[in-house]
Amino acid sequence: MDSNKFWSDGVDAIQPYVPGEQPAIAGLVKLNTNENPFPPSPAALAAIRAATNEDLRLYPDPDSTRLRQAFAQAHGIAPEFVFAGNSSDEVLAHAFLGLLKHERPILFPDITYSFYPVYCRLYGIAFETVPLDAEFGLRVADYARPNGGVVLPNPNAPTGRALARAEIRQLLEANRDSVVLVDEAYVDFGAESAIPLVAEFPNLLVTHTLSKSRSLAGLRVGFAVGQPALLQALERVKGSFNSYPLDRLAIAGGTAALQDQAHFEHTRQQVIATREWLAAQLERLDFDVIPSQANFVFAAHASRAGAELLRQLRERRILVRHFATPRTEHFLRITIGTRAQCEQLVTALEELLAQP
Ligand SMILES: *Cc1c(COP(=O)(O)O)cnc(C)c1O
Repeated sequence: MDSNKFWSDGVDAIQPYVPGEQPAIAGLVKLNTNENPFPPSPAALAAIRAATNEDLRLYPDPDSTRLRQAFAQAHGIAPEFVFAGNSSDEVLAHAFLGLLKHERPILFPDITYSFYPVYCRLYGIAFETVPLDAEFGLRVADYARPNGGVVLPNPNAPTGRALARAEIRQLLEANRDSVVLVDEAYVDFGAESAIPLVAEFPNLLVTHTLSKSRSLAGLRVGFAVGQPALLQALERVKGSFNSYPLDRLAIAGGTAALQDQAHFEHTRQQVIATREWLAAQLERLDFDVIPSQANFVFAAHASRAGAELLRQLRERRILVRHFATPRTEHFLRITIGTRAQCEQLVTALEELLAQP
């Protein structure tokens, strides 16, 4: 059913984001939603257990002070430059409503995180997409025109391609009158963060998440980094929506995860090494692999259709992601799993590519 007489006006017109599936199938090799294959920091799990006590009858700290301090310390910035939310999706939603709704349309790439147009439709924000080049590169010069804001993930999703910090600087210099939102969900897997530019550019907002590089997608913790005047807009939206977005367990676990740099370094280096191995294997199997700085690769086979490979891998209990749009339909987005999971994927591909 498309609509119902009880719905508010406009609810039938919004188009919700479709997340990658989370099927309950035993023995699945799950390489479809960019989760980290390694467990969270043991210190984070211990902190969550320790926080599971009768204090849960009390509301949490509305400002997530400890958590923001831990994030600030991990990134060498002051806590006043950090906003925390219940996932980076929520922080992004607040940024769209609080900073990106203007008369002029906002700009983002034609191939990017598919949640951005969803927020625009929800909040009635005008947007235009800017085509990536033929190799899915983002040309900074294409964004040097009047706009209501610029949004881009760096590295981009689902391509994995990253811009250098010098290119983000060019983007900021060309857009001093609108907000530039850099979504750094994957930055820890090898790209340069724009956080060092925040002190210089009052229009820069950088978002982060603990879902990918800290293995805590289940805890829902996200951040924004920006100058306090910019963050004040997010605070106003947050205070009009949910005053306590982070629960006590998320504050405890997230804080401990951010303090465990050793676990973070060890696991992210393994993801990066496995990505480089998998990219080389896919090239050997005749895939065009887009250079990735993220925890996934975006790859198209020379002769086999993406949708067909998706289905054949699924039959072998291996889940990857496919985006059925004209420019991306040949590609599969493959999350970097453990080395053993990626070896299973390569073996499956060898088998099915050997069949006519
Ligand atoms: C995964 C992802 C997010 C969302 O992260 P959560 O904190 O889990 O909501 C945001 N942006 C991009 C580009 C992502 O891929």
